[in-house]
Amino acid sequence: MTFDLIVCGAGIVGLAHAYVASRLGLRVAVVERDHHAVGASIRNFGFVTVTGQREGATWQRARRSRDVWAEVAQACRIPIVHRGLWVLGLRPGSQAVLEAFCQTEMGAECQLHDAASAGRLAPALRTQHAQAAMYSPHELRVESREAIPKLAAWLAEQHGVTFCYGESVLEVDAPRVRTSRRVLHGGRVVLCPGADLNGVAGATLGAFGLKLTRLQMLRVRPPAGFRLPAAVMSDLSLVRYAGYSALPQAKTFAQSLQVDEAESLQHGIHLIAVQSEDGTLVVGDSHHPDSAATPFTSQRVDALILRHMQEALAIDQHEVVERWAGWYPVGHADDCLVAAPDPAVRVVVVTSGTGASTAFAIAEEVSRTW
Ligand SMILES: Cc1cc2nc3c(=O)[nH]c(=O)nc-3n(C[C@H](O)[C@H](O)[C@H](O)COP(=O)(O)OP(=O)(O)OC[C@H]3O[C@@H](n4cnc5c(N)ncnc54)[C@H](O)[C@@H]3O)c2cc1C
Repeated sequence: MTFDLIVCGAGIVGLAHAYVASRLGLRVAVVERDHHAVGASIRNFGFVTVTGQREGATWQRARRSRDVWAEVAQACRIPIVHRGLWVLGLRPGSQAVLEAFCQTEMGAECQLHDAASAGRLAPALRTQHAQAAMYSPHELRVESREAIPKLAAWLAEQHGVTFCYGESVLEVDAPRVRTSRRVLHGGRVVLCPGADLNGVAGATLGAFGLKLTRLQMLRVRPPAGFRLPAAVMSDLSLVRYAGYSALPQAKTFAQSLQVDEAESLQHGIHLIAVQSEDGTLVVGDSHHPDSAATPFTSQRVDALILRHMQEALAIDQHEVVERWAGWYPVGHADDCLVAAPDPAVRVVVVTSGTGASTAFAIAEEVSRTW
């Protein structure tokens, strides 16, 4: 029960720290309060997004993490369900944003298409009335609810990481870590509690004034045989994802969306659609910062998300097969908060919807600078 590193939380951020440390030959334990991870890391799209991430550290971390995901997925036999991203510009003004993005360093390897060319390359998209469509080659998609348990099992079996499930970390006084079942000893302790802002890391996180945002998600069955060529986003993503929204052209576009799509914007909706091996689509999402604590989801919000899906995808019928909500912390200027309450302790919280895309690089940075 003595380790070089004790990790609190078996979401992707905790697993990434366990992976990086075990590759350095350290003895690692991961303590997870649930019987398996059920937080944001399995509720997300499994969309490892590079294009559209905030310029600078987040974009760099996403590029690095995408490469680590590719290595790890191969080693753990996690299928990469699809690669790349189509961003459809459907409303006037979207083309200017996509054109401007393609001129940036981040857009250098992306391709801009007109409606006819996008329709030929991606017939699953509803491109007839598109102003423009951009293809990014950088992204990966994994099925998170299967990938996270596979990654944890592989860390246990191949890297000797000890997992303590169904056990809460209650108190850290390094090297002593008191859990709901015992006392562990760790030379270093990293707390990756995700959306649990008031728990074991509450004393540290309290100073940062973080809040939670709540997201609604759906799983949709399209007609048999429908295949997405890549992940899909559309207009509203151009004013939500910082890699686009920081462009001057996006400010103008946002003004026109305020007129045409006020209700969707009010619910923080933008479209992401990805596909699973069984053909179903994971579709979302909305963002409700002010009602983060409520577990009740809204049918009106789901209907708006589905309308954006139908605008972008060439499907006439669909069946909703699952609905769920997820939470992540927001309120830190960077997309990630790393705090050091003690020389032997780090608290690592991703403060935007980017942890699946950046966790491996964050863990490498924490390890390198500690
Ligand atoms: C609906 C949704 C969609 C998203 N889509 C994407 C996406 O497509 N791409 C992307 O990059 N990001 C996406 N994100 C964001 C991404 O999922 C998160 O940034 C990431 O999963 C955060 O990982 P985490 O390990 O910090 O948190 P979590 O996955 O929440 O894990 C934290 C873990 O810590 C455990 N824990 C907390 N306190 C204790 C304690 N005291 N003792 C023991 N265990 C404890 C919890 O039980 C939990 O399992 C999405 C998020 C949501 C909610």
